[in-house]
Amino acid sequence: MTSTDDRPDTAAHTSGDLETALARWREALGPEHVITDDESLADFADPYAPASFGYRAKVVVQPGSVEDVQAVVRIASETGVPIWTSSQGRNYGYGGSAPLDPDTVVVNLRRMNRVLEINEELAYVVVEPGVSFRELYDAVQASGKKLWVDVPDLSWGSVVGNTLEHGNGFTLYYDHAAAECGMEVVLADGSVVRTGTGAMSGSKTWHLSKRGFGPRTDSLFMQSNMGIVTKMGVWVMPQPDAYKDCQIKVRRDSDLEALVEAFRPFLVDGTVGNCPILFPALTALPNGLPRSAVWDKKSSVPRELAEGMMWEAARIGAWNIRFALYGDRQTVERDFERISAAFASIPDAEVTGNTIDPAEAKLDSPALADQKSRVMAGVPDLSMLQVLNWHGTNGGHISFASTVPLKGEDVRNIVELVSTREAEHGIDYTVGIMLYQRFAIHVALMLYNVGNEPQVKEVYELYRDLVVEAAEMGYGEYRAHPAFMDLVAEQFDHNDHSHMAMVEKIKDALDPAGILAPGKQGIWPARLRTAEKQA
Ligand code: ADP
Repeated sequence: MTSTDDRPDTAAHTSGDLETALARWREALGPEHVITDDESLADFADPYAPASFGYRAKVVVQPGSVEDVQAVVRIASETGVPIWTSSQGRNYGYGGSAPLDPDTVVVNLRRMNRVLEINEELAYVVVEPGVSFRELYDAVQASGKKLWVDVPDLSWGSVVGNTLEHGNGFTLYYDHAAAECGMEVVLADGSVVRTGTGAMSGSKTWHLSKRGFGPRTDSLFMQSNMGIVTKMGVWVMPQPDAYKDCQIKVRRDSDLEALVEAFRPFLVDGTVGNCPILFPALTALPNGLPRSAVWDKKSSVPRELAEGMMWEAARIGAWNIRFALYGDRQTVERDFERISAAFASIPDAEVTGNTIDPAEAKLDSPALADQKSRVMAGVPDLSMLQVLNWHGTNGGHISFASTVPLKGEDVRNIVELVSTREAEHGIDYTVGIMLYQRFAIHVALMLYNVGNEPQVKEVYELYRDLVVEAAEMGYGEYRAHPAFMDLVAEQFDHNDHSHMAMVEKIKDALDPAGILAPGKQGIWPARLRTAEKQA
């Protein structure tokens, strides 16, 4: 499906027998947990898409237990009504709870919000899907156990939803999919499956050993539509002896490549074990400021203007890295010296660090100076939402998130591609580049005013062009809003899309009625695949 809209347009599409499904869900869950009134539904729409785009469900059901989830999927299968799962449903840059098709019913799991276990000795937790990062942080704090929860930039989303979508945070356990250990999943036929060693009744290692006996299947339920996850084990970080909040800045844009090249060895060899963020001056500019206070023209804010302003106001460089060191205090200080020395050859480069007592890693601690100090210490924060003020009170964004090799040349390529193409449309280049151990995710935050529909349409169109242009350079997207899932999936085309063909076989076997999140990640059930694809 390459049209401007990824929704199915085949006659085969059907929303099943919704009236029967509604009656049976009301009976199974209680009528108050089947939401159909506009006011309540608004909380499950994509708030960053204009209403006319249709990214909002007409029905939301909220099961409160595993048995409820089983009942929900069985009723969906039997009545042919497709369902789309969300846990908190707040990953708004990627659509929130909104399904691809408004006739798909949202199954939202906010009611299933118990923290089932917090284990200090072996440093893991077990959560239900509705538990938000903030709630998990609060539960760990209340337990008095010396553990750090890895939180993403915004802590209102769920641990499970973020992990399933390959989200990241900023401590040593930043790669959430990698920190997952042992799930419980309800399949489309209502059966309950435990992954890893959890497949053995009475297993004592379900949340400790990721591998069971045979293939590891956890990834089948990540960025997919193969089941509904109802429990998850997550490894967490023991509170370290020392935490050093560090930054590197270079004054000139032309130093970007040298910055990445000098920093890479410390990621590859594990000296820096967290997920540092690389960002330009322009990214720091919108934080709370309205655009009108900075630039009154339609054209995008010139880089040089942002660089000048941010250097003067906050000593923020043309490019900056925030990273953290954790562990034994002497080792941390020694590593910091080694890292600092590596930047001596870049003129005017500055490396600074602030060693913070980990016991201070708490909400409202004055030791944690800003948003990044907090999230690198696993402390929840919502202040990044201020960036939405950039285009007035009705701000929104989509995230264009490409993966590139951790090399100066490749980082430069994606920076130039996105910033140049955005400038052609008067879109300001705000980006956070997450540095993984061997690759980077360039997350361009495309900001707009949701009330300015032509502007949002232009951003969506640009996004489409960029998906293709980035793929031609060898850079794929790591995550996408439902509006672009088909297009992104199409870029993964090796050997005539043989990977998708394999995934479709699994989908058909696990969900023969095709009721779980049709179209998610470009995976369509057989009944909704185009004739061309089925041939
Ligand atoms: P968050 O909780 O971070 O706001 P969401 O609840 O919006 O994230 O979840 C993001 C996406 O992850 C959803 O659109 C859905 O595709 C998938 N997802 C979330 N929770 C589950 C779950 N429990 N089982 C299966 N898929 C899920």
